[in-house]
Amino acid sequence: MYKLINVTGGVGGDCHLVLGKEKAAIIDTGMAYCAGNVIGNIQKALAEHMPQHPQLDYIFLTHSHYDHLGALPYILEAWPAAKVCAAHHAHKVLQRPNALKAIRKLSEGACVIFSDGHLSPYDDQLLHVDVCLKENDVIDLGVCPVQTLETPGHTQCSLTFFIDNALVFGSESTGYTSKCGRVNTTYVNSYKQAVASIEKCRALGKVKIVSPHYGLLTDEEAQIYWQKCLEATEHHKNFILAKAGEGCSEDEILEACFHEFYDDICKFEQPYRAWRLNTLAAIRSVLKEFNMDLGDQ
Ligand SMILES: [Zn+2]
Repeated sequence: MYKLINVTGGVGGDCHLVLGKEKAAIIDTGMAYCAGNVIGNIQKALAEHMPQHPQLDYIFLTHSHYDHLGALPYILEAWPAAKVCAAHHAHKVLQRPNALKAIRKLSEGACVIFSDGHLSPYDDQLLHVDVCLKENDVIDLGVCPVQTLETPGHTQCSLTFFIDNALVFGSESTGYTSKCGRVNTTYVNSYKQAVASIEKCRALGKVKIVSPHYGLLTDEEAQIYWQKCLEATEHHKNFILAKAGEGCSEDEILEACFHEFYDDICKFEQPYRAWRLNTLAAIRSVLKEFNMDLGDQ
């Protein structure tokens, strides 16, 4: 028994509130610049649907990227008792000064693109993990188990959350749905792990699905979602291997990917800097996993 409310505060990153019988959780936070909106949306939803317990108990993170946890420090200021739950690897990432610096830089950049460029100050120490989750760990929100599935591929720390044996919060390792409805791949650190993650999710059978950067899919969309994720991932990998086979350098493959994949919709949904970093890492992972030596590197 769960209630799902989309409390996203602005474009670029989503936040969903999940209510069990006794406790409330959010899955991801969205970007830093829209934290004020997210907090307002959560407060409103809690007052309406959980007046007896208008508290946020858990914050689940699908991974440690800035567009998924940027608003975390502000949300923790509003609900200091909320427990941040994520993979052990995310915990380690958030202890690295360079990662915190990168999150801040990307959050500031997104604030310029999507808002007025003035990011409210925040404390880096609030970007942390309290509870390290691993495969099949369960946290109960009150007749509403939240089960963790490890689904690496996008990042090593990517987790999928399976709510009440009925609703899947996909991680970006499996893919994401563009606002136009197209399913895109977004594996970064391993193509092979991404494919295994898609198969793991597909094995859950008939479920409701929340796709990253999009929201709840219709039952019709959900039925073909994992297959579309797989096709998008295969197409991306095959495109890179074909370019490498033609003798392209890493820079040339990146340029070809830019023309093939970075269209007007992507431009709006993912700043170039973040896209470039992710795509370069994806190219390297595919070349490594398929033993392709570019020769000129
Ligand atoms: Zn990400």
